[in-house]
Amino acid sequence: MKILIADDDQISRMITKAAVEQSGHECIVAVDGDSAWQLYKEHSPEAVVTDLMMPGLNGLDLCRAIRAAEKDRYTYVILVTSHGSRKDVLAGMEAGADDYVTKPLDPFSLHIRLLAAQRITSLHADLARYRSALSEQARTDPLTKLHNRLKLAEDLGALHSGGVTGHNYCLAMVDVDNFKSYNDIYGHQAGDAALVAIASTLASEVRKSDAVYRFGGEEFLLVLRDQEAPGARMVMERVRSAVQSLRIEHSGDPDGVLTISAGISAFTDGHRAGTEQLLREADLALYASKASGRNRVSLADALHSE
Ligand code: GH3
Ligand code: MG
Ligand code: MG
Repeated sequence: MKILIADDDQISRMITKAAVEQSGHECIVAVDGDSAWQLYKEHSPEAVVTDLMMPGLNGLDLCRAIRAAEKDRYTYVILVTSHGSRKDVLAGMEAGADDYVTKPLDPFSLHIRLLAAQRITSLHADLARYRSALSEQARTDPLTKLHNRLKLAEDLGALHSGGVTGHNYCLAMVDVDNFKSYNDIYGHQAGDAALVAIASTLASEVRKSDAVYRFGGEEFLLVLRDQEAPGARMVMERVRSAVQSLRIEHSGDPDGVLTISAGISAFTDGHRAGTEQLLREADLALYASKASGRNRVSLADALHSE
């Protein structure tokens, strides 16, 4: 483990450092609470062994600062108390310390506490990994591996709040043409495989800063950033054409292959609509693409001016 030692007394510092190194750990040494806090932020140690009384930030302040700063990790904090008074120990544990040792420091006492520290911090690291994997899973569509509706809601929320507000962007609602008959003719499994192929084509045809979501069964939504309607139409024409070029045979479709239709709405200077409104507009434009023959792209703009 990487262990931060904080002690303003030089002799105590040397003793603690020797004990920590003897236990086989890497040491970072701070001469007071303030520099300990700086070194903590810089090095993210797994454990902190800190004196209680120090000028500036004391051991309790350091504990509280560490606990307040932690997010997905856990730092095991061991207090070194001069007298081991119950009052000091209680205050330390309440401030967030995990354990304490008393001065003069007994290297064996510290050694066994560092074994516990190692176990606890590695459990916390496992938990953080599981949490992050679960969070990723909860936002991913299992069939296509695209983002799902939950992630879409979060991303659209973020687009409409804080720093990104004001940037133009477009939404493109995409729906596979005559897909029900594709399933009927080729079977549900072939349908699934086709959705996977189409999803990966959508994802590979847009920029890294854009995002593709599975919106529903055979419906997808694309968020095209820093894009106005004419640009978005060009992108979606390219996407539409790429899907057709997959040449997934579909005898029930007039084109003989699987195709998609799309509808685009735009968040621009003249049209600062909310996300619900933009989704509705993209859906209406998609409906226009379907009504006028499928395998095409329509703009919500064009619908306004008609
Ligand atoms: P349109 O061109 O008007 O969109 O016609 P469509 O047949 O595609 O439209 P409809 O909404 O009637 O049919 C959608 C079909 O998509 C029905 C459903 O069985 C199929 N579908 C939805 N989700 C999945 C899926 O995960 N896997 C498979 N294989 N099929 C799916
Ligand atoms: Mg549909
Ligand atoms: Mg469809």
